[in-house]
Parts: sequence; C-alpha cells; structure tokens
Amino acid sequence: MTKYKLEYIWLDGYKPVPNLRGKTQLKEYAEFPTLEQLPLWGFDGSSTQQAEGHNSDCVLKPVAIFPDGARKNGALVMCEVLNPDGTPHASNGRATIVDDPGAWFGFEQEYFLYKDGRPLGFPTNGYPAPQGPYYTGVGFKNVGDVAREIVEEHLDLCLYAGINHEGINAEVAKGQWEFQIFGKGSARAADEMWIARYILLRLTEKYGVDIEWHCKPLGDTDWNGSGMHANFSTAYLREVGGKEYFLALMAAFEKNRADHIAVYGPDNHLRLTGKHETASIDEFSWGIANRGASIRVPHSFANNNYKGYLEDRRPNSAGDPYQIASQILKTIAEVPTAAAAVAAAE
Ligand code: ADP
Ligand code: MN
Ligand code: MN
Ligand code: MN
Repeated sequence: MTKYKLEYIWLDGYKPVPNLRGKTQLKEYAEFPTLEQLPLWGFDGSSTQQAEGHNSDCVLKPVAIFPDGARKNGALVMCEVLNPDGTPHASNGRATIVDDPGAWFGFEQEYFLYKDGRPLGFPTNGYPAPQGPYYTGVGFKNVGDVAREIVEEHLDLCLYAGINHEGINAEVAKGQWEFQIFGKGSARAADEMWIARYILLRLTEKYGVDIEWHCKPLGDTDWNGSGMHANFSTAYLREVGGKEYFLALMAAFEKNRADHIAVYGPDNHLRLTGKHETASIDEFSWGIANRGASIRVPHSFANNNYKGYLEDRRPNSAGDPYQIASQILKTIAEVPTAAAAVAAAE
C-alpha cells in the first residue's frame, strides 16, 4: 500500500469570479486511485464565502482526478461543492451546466505573469518598449529570464496530469502568455482548464510571481488585454454544417448576446472595445478570418461548406469555462438542425 497525497480542489463562493481552493488528504491505496475510490470530504464553508458560521460544513465531491507531477505520490482531485443534504451548493456551477460529449472545446487561456505589482519584465516606473516584438518573441529583451522556465514547467506538469494542452505562446503584451487546452465535452474541457490554472498558480509561488487573470490589467492603454477565446464545434457542425445552418446559428448568437456576455468574464467592457483585436461588447458580429469580430470563422470552415469549428473571441481570461461552454451549448440547442427540421415536417 502507498500513501497518496490527494489535493482536493474546488471553487469557492467569491463573486464575480471564484477562487481556487485546495487541501490535502492522505489515503492509502494499492495503486493510483480511480475516481470511484475517492471519498467525499468536507471543509469549512464559512471561510470561503460558502456558508454562515453556525452551520458551516460543505461537502466535496470528487469529479475528476489527475496525476500530480509536483508531488511524490500526488493526485489533483477536482471537486464539486455540495450541501450537507447532497444537493449542489449555490456556488456549484458545474453541477447544472449543459454538456454533450460530441461538443469539442478549445480554450485559449491568456494571462499575465506579475511580480511586485506589475507585469514581469516591466520597469519599476513607466513602460517597456511598446508592443510589437513580444508576441511569439524570443530573446531576453522580449521574454526576460524566468518566464520561459515557468511556462515550460507548467506545460510539463499539465502533460503529466493528462491535461490535453495543444500549444503555448508568448502573447502581445510583455509578461503576457497563452496556453491552449482542447477537450471533448464542456465538463471535461473546463475541468482541465481549472486544474491547469491551479497548477500555474501553485507553480509560480516559488518564483514570487502571481498570475493576473484580469482581462485588462493595464487599463485603457496601448497594452492588450487577456482573453480566453472559446473554439467550439458539435458533431453536427463538424459533419453536416452548411451555410443556412451557420446563419441561423449566428442569428441565435446575436439574439442571446447579453446572456453570453453575462458569463464571459467580469469587466469585459474594459477589454471588448473594438481595439486590440476585439469586437465591441454591445454588438454581435461574425467574420471570416476576422479577429475584430465577436465570432471568427476560420477559412477552413468557410471553404469546407461551413463545416468545422468556430471561435468565439469574447470570453475573457477570468471567465469560468463551465459557464462559457454551457452558454454556447444552450444557444446551439435553440437552432434546429436540418435533420430535426425534416423530422418535424413529417
Ligand atoms: P488562434 O490564436 O489563431 O486563435 P490557437 O491555435 O491558439 O488559434 O487556438 C485554436 C484552438 O482551436 C485550439 O485550442 C484548438 O484546440 C481548437 N480547435 C481546433 N479544432 C477544433 C474543433 N474541431 N472543435 C473545437 N475546437 C477546435
Ligand atoms: Mn491563440
Ligand atoms: Mn492569443
Ligand atoms: Mn484565438
């Protein structure tokens, strides 16, 4: 038997964005445990804005397990928060999301590395040289001396955990980076994103570096904000598609604009200004290969009879991937497919 270090991780009750929390439980297993072998656990919800002091026990229900490369015999355990009676806690958004294993999501998580209250590599006062060379840049003057060590270490820890990273790159602003995760099903893709965020936050502790998830940390300046573009496809979009269906889908996205913006991350009006490769928050637009549109239609999609995946560029870096994926699937569900239209006419 081996004693495993199980890090139970959950989202707290802070608004508008929850924080990641975690605590370790040691338990003996013959081999790396399966999800079914993990017990429910509890925590003091009065310290996480999830309960009043007089009745403060909340329940942790494991929903996904990942090997933890930072610890000997470690596991990262994503949990949902339940009330003592077993119902989902009010803060538990995951329990009620729309899911579909045929829906694939690719999230592009942008973020800033921060040290001493400013982006890593910024001088004590003022700004570094303007944006231009940093995006996908190389060399000390562009990326400094520790950022790459951090992002490489993060990548390896995520791969060790079985998180489906698809790529990483230095971003447009100095100190800004991106990683991409691709997953099948909203819960799975979003679980992986939250665990990747957890790994990044924990990893950078030893560097004295914080992760700034805010979508516009440098305010109204000539420095880019951070997004979390959501690339998505359903089986129908990949296999059938067609221009008529696509246009109906875009009409539904336009109609539901406010519902999408509501879950696409806080302070997004500061970022979706129409500048810096963004669309205005108040208008819905789509465009082929247009990075200034709400939804970018890849060339491959338009050239393949409107089949494939689409990129919603509005979700921001601090958004909750559970809610983002769920809202995209809600809107998709409103649009009848050709097969459904034929069935209805019969
Ligand atoms: P860009 O920076 O040009 O917007 P990226 O390469 O950073 O593009 O991200 C593209 C994303 O699209 C990747 O995360 C990838 O996983 C995702 N993607 C590719 N094909 C699909 C698909 N069929 N369904 C959903 N997402 C997809
Ligand atoms: Mn990208
Ligand atoms: Mn990017
Ligand atoms: Mn993108």
